[in-house]
Formats: sequence, structure tokens, C-alpha cells
Amino acid sequence: MPLPEHLILEIVTPERSVVSEQIDEVQIPGTEGSFGVRPGHTPLLATLQVGELWYRRGEETSHVAVSFGFAEVQPDRVTILAQIAESAEDIDVTRATDAEQRAKKRLDTPALDMDFERARIAMLKSLTRLRVASRARNRV
Ligand code: ATP
Repeated sequence: MPLPEHLILEIVTPERSVVSEQIDEVQIPGTEGSFGVRPGHTPLLATLQVGELWYRRGEETSHVAVSFGFAEVQPDRVTILAQIAESAEDIDVTRATDAEQRAKKRLDTPALDMDFERARIAMLKSLTRLRVASRARNRV
């Protein structure tokens, strides 16, 4: 069977469809590490971590902040089912900066009963949002 030339990328959350596009390449933040997918990739199922996903269509690269969920890879299609997914233009930078400062304060001066994992994830989410928001479209 000939290799597909493109991929259909679908990124959906419980609330909405965030991306539905024909693309050439996608880089996914998996819990076992970030991995790249091009057309013709072997089918696989992976879990997502909090991180930055990017995809390329021709010369144009776009970034999405994702948190938790699954990636299903087929030779001609990638489906991301994420708890949270935000494109750069969806991100409220002031809110993410406030969240980062709260998380930093918590981690710097931990209370005895602090949930360290929760604070770590809040920090990671806010830093991912700020990184994605700072990326201009068309730049890797
Ligand atoms: P915050 O502490 O600011 O509420 P959070 O990390 O606890 O952030 P989440 O639980 O990750 O928030 O997300 C809750 C909802 O709010 C989701 O729909 C998410 O997309 C949205 N959201 C959170 N932070 C931002 C942001 N900086 N910009 C845009 N949407 C955001």
C-alpha cells in the first residue's frame, strides 16, 4: 500500500475540538518522552504528559499546550484526546503568569501538608502555557 502523503490531526478535549487539520508532521509530549510522527507511522497508542505539542503544515508550524490524555497514531491520522488543549491564541498570559507565581511561591515555601505533585503540575502547566503563548506562528 502506498504511504499516505499527509496526516489528519484531530485534537479534542471533553469541551471542544481544538484542531482538525491536514498536516505534514506532529511532535507529541508523551509520558515516555516527546516523539515525532510523520505520514506512514506505525500505529501506536501513547499517554500524554503536560507539555507542548507542535505540528507543521508545509512551512507553517503551530503550537498547542496539552495536559493529560491519549494520542492514537495511525499511518494517515493522529488523534489527541486531551483533558486540556490550548492553542497560542487561546492562552490568557496574565492568568498563566499568576498561576506560575502561585506555584513558585508554594514550591519555594512549602507548607507541611503541601501536595507536592499538585504544585509541580501547576508549575509545569503554567510554564507550558507561557512558552506556547510566546511562540509566534510560523516559528519553531
Ligand atoms: P488556573 O490556576 O489559572 O485556574 P489551572 O492550571 O488550574 O489554571 P486548569 O485546571 O488547567 O487551570 O484549566 C481549567 C480551564 O481553564 C481549562 O479549560 C483551561 O483551558 C482554562 N485555562 C486555564 N489557564 C488558562 C490560561 N492561562 N489561558 C487560557 N485558558 C486557561
